[in-house]
This record gives sequence, C-alpha cells and structure tokens, in this order.
Amino acid sequence: MPTTLNRVNVPVAVDAGKCIAEKGCTVCVDVCPLDLLAIDQQTGKAYMKFDECWYCLPCEADCPTQAIHVSIPYLLR
Ligand code: SF4
Ligand code: SF4
Repeated sequence: MPTTLNRVNVPVAVDAGKCIAEKGCTVCVDVCPLDLLAIDQQTGKAYMKFDECWYCLPCEADCPTQAIHVSIPYLLR
C-alpha cells in the first residue's frame, strides 16, 4: 500500500491542537480495521499514513478529544 504523499489531501484530518498522542493515546491507530493511521514520532501526533479509507468512522467516533474529522466523499453519503 503506498503511503500518503502529503497530509492535507487525505480523508482523515487530525487536529494537532487536540490530538494527545504524545501523552500515550493510540485509540485511532488501534481501532482502524485497515491500519491506516499512525503516530508521527517527530510531531507526536496521529496522521493518516495510508490513504485507503473505508469511511467506517470508529477513528472519528472513538477519539477522546474529537481531534479527528473524516471527510466522506459526496458519492458515498
Ligand atoms: S484517538 Fe485522537 S487523541 Fe488519540 S491519537 Fe488518535 S487523534 Fe490523537
Ligand atoms: S474511517 Fe475507518 S478506515 Fe478510515 S481511517 Fe477511520 S477507522 Fe480507518
């Protein structure tokens, strides 16, 4: 699976101001059934590592700080 080339044009956006991964949270990484999310060791924040989203939404729903927003493509709504 190719890694994301940038972190802007991916469906899963992480608000770095809200993400508390540097305090040990890995909820979104753990709940994603496709293992698409990861913690950036440089920034200490979660990000979308692989752009293969199923839009199943547990990452957004389970994030304890509401740091994640998943943009669902119009055709899937
Ligand atoms: S679940 Fe939320 S707070 Fe935790 S690592 Fe993921 S984005 Fe950050
Ligand atoms: S919506 Fe589902 S597939 Fe997409 S990143 Fe979140 S948990 Fe993973």
